[in-house]
Amino acid sequence: MAEAHAIRRNAPPPYRGGCLCGAVRYVAAAPTLGARICHCATCRAAMAAPYLAQAQFPRRAVSWEGTTARWRSSDRLYRHFCPRCGTRLFLEPRDAPRLGIPLATLDDPAAIQPEMHVWTCEALPWALGPDALPRYPQGSPLPYRKPAGA
Ligand SMILES: [Zn+2]
Ligand SMILES: [Zn+2]
Repeated sequence: MAEAHAIRRNAPPPYRGGCLCGAVRYVAAAPTLGARICHCATCRAAMAAPYLAQAQFPRRAVSWEGTTARWRSSDRLYRHFCPRCGTRLFLEPRDAPRLGIPLATLDDPAAIQPEMHVWTCEALPWALGPDALPRYPQGSPLPYRKPAGA
């Protein structure tokens, strides 16, 4: 089964993570219910990033220390963030007992494998693979270009 295969590639729970400044720390103590890369315009704007890669967990399996702020980006969804450093954290659907966690906030961001791209109709053309751009395992071996006239 494709689903079982995807789950098997994930590191086992618990998954720990938090915001950049450390004021908010969380633990997700269950396997993910699904990990998706969302290309929708709302996620892009909310995250200030080309897309959002996030994993959903049962709400009761996630606990955290520290205080988040949240705002309602749609009828269905609250988006939590750290009021101190601004890191975006949980996605809280109002109509389901789940909590979404951005993979980038995990202590090990590679612990969970995305399973699918969603909302590709809104994807930035350069944000959806496969593409022919070079890929480097770490930073680019090429330096940044100098500003004109420098
Ligand atoms: Zn913070
Ligand atoms: Zn989205």
